[in-house]
Amino acid sequence: MVSRKNGLFSVRSAYRLGLQPSLDLLSEGQSSAEPGGDRGIWNLVWKAKVPQKLRVFAWKAATSTLAVRSGLHHRMPKIDPTCIICGLEVEDGHHALIRCTLARALREEMRKIWTLPPESAFQINSKEWLLHLLSTSSPSIRAKIIFLLWRSWHLRNNIVHGDGKASVVASASFIANYLESFSSVNLARLDPKGKAAAPCEHQLPEGSVRLSNWTAPTEGQLKANVDAGWDVSTKKAGIGVIIRDHLGQVVECEWKFISRCASAEEAEVLACLQGLKSLIRLQAPYGILESDCLRTVKILECKVKDTSSCWSLYAEGHELLNLYQSISICKVDRASNGLAHGLAQLGKKGDSGSVRGSVPPPLAGLAENDCNWVDEPLVA
Ligand SMILES: [Zn+2]
Repeated sequence: MVSRKNGLFSVRSAYRLGLQPSLDLLSEGQSSAEPGGDRGIWNLVWKAKVPQKLRVFAWKAATSTLAVRSGLHHRMPKIDPTCIICGLEVEDGHHALIRCTLARALREEMRKIWTLPPESAFQINSKEWLLHLLSTSSPSIRAKIIFLLWRSWHLRNNIVHGDGKASVVASASFIANYLESFSSVNLARLDPKGKAAAPCEHQLPEGSVRLSNWTAPTEGQLKANVDAGWDVSTKKAGIGVIIRDHLGQVVECEWKFISRCASAEEAEVLACLQGLKSLIRLQAPYGILESDCLRTVKILECKVKDTSSCWSLYAEGHELLNLYQSISICKVDRASNGLAHGLAQLGKKGDSGSVRGSVPPPLAGLAENDCNWVDEPLVA
């Protein structure tokens, strides 16, 4: 038996390709209830250390379900299947992601930054080329391959359907930074047993001691702390957003009055949305959003479909987080979210505003408590 019609990879085709050792390794610890199942080989994709969006992309690439011209031509023979970027070959998945001049250029650029498998490994063109490539690579190389192919696909679509402004060099540094940031966030979110989520990663400025639980993001990242206040009798609410950099310095603060809000939860989701939009507006490539509302964080983080009255707001949040995968969301304890809380209280009183580089004067005292980097005295 060869692989299934839809491109799914069967255990038997794994044998045929000599992949069984890697398959066995990947299946370790799993139930053997499905001896004929494909779970092991699909772990190459679903357990790859890459953002979920990239796994979905890799899965589409591995199942030949990316929208390439050869597939379109198959359904609509009038469509020319030739690649419109290089004009050299039929555009199938392997051409678009590996053989096309554009994909080659990005791979070449990436080789200046990353170690990748030899070119010959990329050129093996079978129906299962991607699973084969992934199965013969270590987990860290596997992640790099998925990042690389994902960006190749983006670059291609940007030229064919977008403004064509994405460049090979910028793409290379983008994915290098993205992978680095994703890996560091992931490491920090695992406790020593690799289970529960811990507070976001942090880096102390050199020569400083930390007095509060609030932690600064790593260099190159921005962190938005958000909070909301809601009055059950008047249904008025306020939301607050404070964005700080890796040194704990305030980039901007925002507080907003909301004249009518149905619930405390609605106000919390609105605060998260505001924080997300601010990170996106500031073009923070690797942003962290922190809220002290556990339910809201869980729903947004796990992309759970919500059926409460706030569902449309959550859906908007999911959409933004899907579009901006490099933004992560974390739960922070209340005591470490003091400034965002203070800003939300300002909003709740009926005021709206924003400041850059500092906090509004009524919160100056809070700023010292919440964001307290204290320089250690220099040793003489
Ligand atoms: Zn091409």
